[in-house]
Amino acid sequence: MKTKIIFSEKCLGYGQYHIEGPERVKKAAEILKKLGYEFLEPEPASEDDLLRVHDVDYVWNVKKSLVDDPDTPAYDNIFEFARLSAGGAILAAKVGGFSIMRPPGHHAGRNGAALGAYTRGFCYFNNIAIAVKYLDKPTLILDIDGHHGNGTQEIFLGDEKVTYISLHRHPNYPGTGVIHEGNCLNFPLPPDCGDEVHNKILDKALSSVDVDRFEVVAVSAGFDAHVGDLASLGLTEKSYGNIGKKIGRLGKQTFFVLEGGYKGENVGKNINALIRAYENPT
Ligand SMILES: [Zn+2]
Repeated sequence: MKTKIIFSEKCLGYGQYHIEGPERVKKAAEILKKLGYEFLEPEPASEDDLLRVHDVDYVWNVKKSLVDDPDTPAYDNIFEFARLSAGGAILAAKVGGFSIMRPPGHHAGRNGAALGAYTRGFCYFNNIAIAVKYLDKPTLILDIDGHHGNGTQEIFLGDEKVTYISLHRHPNYPGTGVIHEGNCLNFPLPPDCGDEVHNKILDKALSSVDVDRFEVVAVSAGFDAHVGDLASLGLTEKSYGNIGKKIGRLGKQTFFVLEGGYKGENVGKNINALIRAYENPT
């Protein structure tokens, strides 16, 4: 396995009683360590990195722990946790790795809640957007989390360098991503649609873009579309293997950033299935 896992135990230090708690990532890290993956420690993203994506007032409010909503509490020091997670995404982008840092990011828009969503959905800074802007290359963002990445869409809508593809459960939080909008291609799917439908729609989504245009593929790798998880599309470990193969066949510089997925054991196994297939796509 040449894909490195980006992780710091520091990300386990908040939110013990929240569904987006440390256990999910701790368990995944244990599984991946046992399987022999090499781990790298990230550095926090700089303010310049954050400001390529977020407004200065919003960054300030996160810094002062002033941002609070029912899903996304204003934890003490959340700024430090959030910018270390963003730094994890940047390191993943630099080395072609997989960041399993938390908090997740794809619901965070420029100023917080995006496109009319009523909360920030456990997200503070948009990690994948920060990493994509850091590289600043023509990029295809593929979002396989079970929820629509409304923050990512808000940030990149109209950006000629970036195309955003999302497959997600609908209806569900955040309620966006029902139709294609410009460079943001949305594929809403019914709850528990299963492997076969997901597979077919992912093929359709990837064939609808000219992959040659892109230098980089950035994957918002959420695992809450796994059967029984928060946005189940009825996917299994095998499904994540199929997804990994399709990503590997694109043959591009690729990196992965964890989004959702709330059962640590599944997250760890699914990441392994995804990476193994991505590295051996034929
Ligand atoms: Zn999700």
